[in-house]
Amino acid sequence: METKYIFFTGGVVSSVGKGVTAAALGLLLKERGFSVSVQKLDPYINVDPGTMSPYQHGEVFVLDDGAETDLDLGHYERFIDNPLTQVSNFTSGQIYDEVISKERRGDYLGGTIQIIPHITNEIKRRIRLGAKTTNADIMLIEIGGTVGDIESQPFMESLRQMRRELGNENSFFVHVTWLPHIGATGELKTKPTQHSVAELRGIGISPNMIIARSDYFVEQELVDKIALFCDVEKRAVVPMTTTETLFEVPLLLEETGVADFVIKKLNLKKTQNPKLDDWKKLVKEVKREKPSIKVALVGKYVELQDAYMSVREALRHAALSLGVEAEVAWIHSSDLEKDRSWDEVKSADAILVPGGFGERGIEGKILAAQYARENKIPYLGLCLGMQLMCVEFARNVLGYENANSTEFNHNTEHPVIDLMLEQRGISDMGGTMRLGLYPCVLKEDSTAAKAYAKDEVFERHRHRFEFNNTYREEFEKKGMIFSGVSPDNMLVEVSEIKDHPFMVSSQFHPEFLSRPMRPHPLFVGFVKAAKKKSK
Ligand code: GLN
Repeated sequence: METKYIFFTGGVVSSVGKGVTAAALGLLLKERGFSVSVQKLDPYINVDPGTMSPYQHGEVFVLDDGAETDLDLGHYERFIDNPLTQVSNFTSGQIYDEVISKERRGDYLGGTIQIIPHITNEIKRRIRLGAKTTNADIMLIEIGGTVGDIESQPFMESLRQMRRELGNENSFFVHVTWLPHIGATGELKTKPTQHSVAELRGIGISPNMIIARSDYFVEQELVDKIALFCDVEKRAVVPMTTTETLFEVPLLLEETGVADFVIKKLNLKKTQNPKLDDWKKLVKEVKREKPSIKVALVGKYVELQDAYMSVREALRHAALSLGVEAEVAWIHSSDLEKDRSWDEVKSADAILVPGGFGERGIEGKILAAQYARENKIPYLGLCLGMQLMCVEFARNVLGYENANSTEFNHNTEHPVIDLMLEQRGISDMGGTMRLGLYPCVLKEDSTAAKAYAKDEVFERHRHRFEFNNTYREEFEKKGMIFSGVSPDNMLVEVSEIKDHPFMVSSQFHPEFLSRPMRPHPLFVGFVKAAKKKSK
């Protein structure tokens, strides 16, 4: 079957949940028996978000193949639950990089290189490559940003061309907008939506559907008005009120009948009826009054919770599976260094130290690990959180006062965490870490092995530093268990503290593989321990 394309553009403002909406529609289509894949097109010039500050961009989501991608890919994997690959996300930076390399090689035989057709051709090539490599019946393609952005113009032009090439039966355009609410009059306004659709038409794209996001209930009258002014069918104007939980979005979308509308327009026939019972159960569970546990998340970018999107979601999945509510106290690790926020840490049932880079706030995280170890508070360390758990152990159990990671102190006397051998001599920062899926062998009877109930697992990585093997024996003698290692035993993947209810850390990022219906075993183990502690 020829691949059908659904394109998602944004209007009015960004951050209204275009990615979540697209992911939810993807789930509804998958549930109808189609194979679905996605692509996120990011108009910024960075080659990938790997080198961007989490403050600018939020979390970097890592895929099986090691691609460092936009956090929307996390929504896609969590909703649709198909593993994505590096073809699933590309940026203007990659497009220009490719075109300029070809030009330097002489591939264009002396031609003048222009946005149209060279850049647009490369964009279209990558979109088609996405469809080809995933062999999907339906591709969902999301364009980052909002219509009217200078950066996104070549992308929009490519979409316009693709519609012509594909025809109306094979392409469908969804425009996601926002209806602002005017407090003084209590009204929702459609004018910005009208303007953004006008802008889209100016580029030559007429949307087939408008999803109008809003924080308030949208009256039919407004729906009719949008349909009339924007020239789309009434049935294709879909109001989407903000929901209490993301898990509700697919259910809400299903009620509006959008998925059936889309497949009809694309001339497709569903092969099965959607079963959304699991999602309904999940939403019911979210809304049920539940006992809560408190997790202190000691991080560096806590002002922007998007920087820890997958961690927060993984905690949520695990908590739901155990019938509790995970309340997160967002703690700035550098506050702990200044003797602030300790009440919050001390009143928590568990401590989580997530991944991170750079020196700021490191000592605060080490203090949090020490507190967890000494007071037998459940602790989960992710990547940097594992490395610092080891630094703390070296300092306070082995008595190596100046122990550190060479990421933070080049000249430390005890480099218990050190640059991986293959990382030495690398000067390019982009895409050069140890990235993606690697196997890890678990030690029998360890807390980690019990949590997983398996002896080998595959997990996603993103790091340059590792535990320094010269110290392994010493650590083990004093009560650290290296409960997960690479199959050749060269690399520590999981460490845990003996005689502690749950102090387990991983060099990898388990949060990237947690799914609503398959909470991650390490997070489940952690929340279970927190639940026990709260009693
Ligand atoms: N900065 C550390 C390293 O590069 C940890 C990375 C992380 O937490 N993702 O190894």
